[in-house]
Amino acid sequence: MAGNFRVPEPFNEPVFDYAPGSPERAELKAELERMSGEEVDIPAIIGGQEVRSGNIQPVCAPHDLSLRLGVWHCAGTEEARRAVEGSREARREWASWPWEDRVAVFLRAAEMLSSSWRSRLNAATMLGQSKNAFQSEIDAACETVDFYRYGAAFLEEVLEQQPHSSDGVWNRTDHRPLEGFVYAVSPFNFTAIGANLAGMPALAGCGVLWKPSKHAVLSGYHTYKLLEEAGLPPGVIDFVPGDPREITDAALGHPEFGGLAFTGSTEVFRSLWTTVGRNIARYRSYPRLVGETGGKNFIVAHESAGLDALRTAIVRGAFEYQGQKCSAASRVYVPKSLWRRLKDSLVAETEGLAMGDPADFRNFVNAVIDRGAFDKIRGYVARAEAGDGARVVAGGTCTCSGSRAADRTDAPACTCTGKEGFFIRPTIVEADDPGCESMCDEIFGPVVTVHAYPDGKWSETLALADSTSPYGLTGAVFARDRSAVQEAMATLRYAAGNFYVNDKPTGAVVGQQPFGGGRASGTNDKAGSILSVLKWLTPRTLKENLNPPRDFRYPFMAEE
Ligand code: NAD
Repeated sequence: MAGNFRVPEPFNEPVFDYAPGSPERAELKAELERMSGEEVDIPAIIGGQEVRSGNIQPVCAPHDLSLRLGVWHCAGTEEARRAVEGSREARREWASWPWEDRVAVFLRAAEMLSSSWRSRLNAATMLGQSKNAFQSEIDAACETVDFYRYGAAFLEEVLEQQPHSSDGVWNRTDHRPLEGFVYAVSPFNFTAIGANLAGMPALAGCGVLWKPSKHAVLSGYHTYKLLEEAGLPPGVIDFVPGDPREITDAALGHPEFGGLAFTGSTEVFRSLWTTVGRNIARYRSYPRLVGETGGKNFIVAHESAGLDALRTAIVRGAFEYQGQKCSAASRVYVPKSLWRRLKDSLVAETEGLAMGDPADFRNFVNAVIDRGAFDKIRGYVARAEAGDGARVVAGGTCTCSGSRAADRTDAPACTCTGKEGFFIRPTIVEADDPGCESMCDEIFGPVVTVHAYPDGKWSETLALADSTSPYGLTGAVFARDRSAVQEAMATLRYAAGNFYVNDKPTGAVVGQQPFGGGRASGTNDKAGSILSVLKWLTPRTLKENLNPPRDFRYPFMAEE
């Protein structure tokens, strides 16, 4: 079989709205009920074999601690070694597959997820990671489908890159998958990120050891099963949920470690990079390191900003998925005169956000991921309140254990369902000091800090926004005045890898807004772009001489 095959034209998966009465809503509700009523036993999957370490951990729902969704077997050193060593043959075989066959597996997975698997992956994400139906839909279903459809097209685009040939010579580029294996380490907050981090290197032809977050094992397991069912051969991706340190030691300590596909916190990525540096002489190749990490994303409003658009961007940008998006808006700069007009309506809208179980579709916000996140976020709110010059003007914290256990006696009543979970009310901190802790640190929860700056100090505020945080992930400017937009774009050029004009800084779409940041936010290898495939290939240049010289002497050497 031969031909210059073309993959189907990619398109973004349409987002279902789950409105009352819609068939997708009924199907998803039924799936939520089914999944809530069963206990799944999740193994590691190595070389296609289910491996149960016996070190059992519960799969919990952050919004309802009484709900047991199953257990997972926590892998350690032994399982990681088995994955690194045992899947070599499978990796070699996969790398030799024709690219169109590899791509077909991912295109098939995309079609299955777009239809029969959609509610399964959405329900797993809603229950295991506490996401509402819409947040899950744009992540687990649509973004994963988009990554696979566009990934196929990106690979085709890379393969088309071929060099010129001069007379009598044929030059070619062999786009080889990296030698060895890629270690994919994914965070809890997006199911699609795990699907992408494990999926793109595999699509490019690499073998992958995938370690999902312990908080996303359920959705990760279903993602693996989707790929398996779509025809991914055993051992191409080994699914190894487990002890991060033990698995990392085994992966990064191995000579065949060829690349790191990481998304998570800045601190962990730096530690992985340090380990790679320490081990550099052990490796067969210089490993490719891709890391998308933390953010402290800003919205900067000019005095010409539209009030309604700004308010909506803050509410959606800061509080959707409880602010647990790397792109979430978490510091806002508003001129004082505008803040006086915005504050009351923003506070009222925030206080009105319904919170609770994602299975109740009326809820806009759900629970934060675990006890550690809950305590950390509460600490930030408490310190902001206790410090000089900062006030909590909306929200606060509560545990929603039926009887509201709020830290603050004046906290607004919770509208949550009464189940026990890690609930934190969407919180607005008003800060006089633009350098205070909650304007600088990544909190990764439903907390946004607003600094009202003196009117007329636009340029100074832009410089402040640029220098306040070490990150450079996302940011937005709100202004009607075009020169203000221009100035913001120039001053904040390196402050965000994804920059928005009159829009919230979240919700990047594959193929449309390639995602990633620089500075402490990552290597900016842009998920959802051609780079996400290119990174896992190592080209071989081929020169074939069609008419090789037969005499070593050059013409200039001839007698006068
Ligand atoms: P995390 O850093 O705690 O965990 C990420 C992954 O690293 C998990 O699989 C975890 O098990 C693993 N890990 C943790 N400690 C480790 C260690 N010592 N050695 C090896 N692996 C280790 O992050 P998280 O809480 O899952 O996710 C939130 C973070 O991810 C935030 O900082 C957020 O900004 C970031 N994030 C960034 C992007 C982006 O595209 N820039 C996207 C999503 C999340």
